Amino acid sequence: MAATPILEMREITRRFGSFYALKGVDLTVWPGEVHALMGENGAGKSTLMKILAGAYIASSGEILIDGQPYAIKGPKEALAAGITLIYQEINLAPNLTVAENIFLGSEITRGGLVKRRQMAEEAQQVIDRLGAQFSATDLVSRLSIAEQQQVEIARALHRNSRILVMDEPTAALSNRETEQLFALIKRLRSEGMAIIYISHRMAEVYELSDRVSVLRDGQYVGSLTRDQLNASELVRMMVGRPLSDL
Ligand code: ADP
Ligand code: MG
Repeated sequence: MAATPILEMREITRRFGSFYALKGVDLTVWPGEVHALMGENGAGKSTLMKILAGAYIASSGEILIDGQPYAIKGPKEALAAGITLIYQEINLAPNLTVAENIFLGSEITRGGLVKRRQMAEEAQQVIDRLGAQFSATDLVSRLSIAEQQQVEIARALHRNSRILVMDEPTAALSNRETEQLFALIKRLRSEGMAIIYISHRMAEVYELSDRVSVLRDGQYVGSLTRDQLNASELVRMMVGRPLSDL
């Protein structure tokens, strides 16, 4: 394991009015690990990840990237820090091509002209690296949900993201598409990417994760390594009492 975590979130609190969605949550993620984030509905998983991605600002707390404090005041800072969040809802422009989506906001221009062919070529290289089956010039609206997710991952690679957050990515996928996504996640992990994987599906967490952290009612409960994974212990952490009491 590397000596410095790629990401540390410390004592993260987020209020909405008088309601505390997060109360002093800690999360530590290492490079090259799939880190599952578990917890019941409303536990605060998405809020924590939106803070990481700059979509929400923490009420208090600290974020360190590679051991250095990093102020994430908005999506731009998060992108600059190498963080990509793939939301439950796909977040692409459907009427643009795959290449246009991958380059959105970072178009290659020369003399005021967008270099469409160069962008398509570069986008195609990233698509091929993923082993995806569509073309850079396809319209995003014509792709399946699984392929649209691949476009989002391609965009993350194109931006050199090192922390990829996926919020319940298999919710709308078939079994076969899920297998393909898992193969891709494992490959990205082997290339050193850190993947934070939000799920409440125990089987997925068992298959993929190197570590699991659990939130409950906006609080950090604890983490388990792969070797410590244990379904009844995980349930106890998530709901706050043993399975036998349910
Ligand atoms: P999870 O992703 O674990 O299901 P969320 O992070 O979405 O949980 O939500 C945690 C809590 O914060 C929930 O009670 C939710 O209703 C609340 N919450 C999330 N976003 C907002 C918001 N924008 N305004 C008010 N409350 C919110
Ligand atoms: Mg959520």
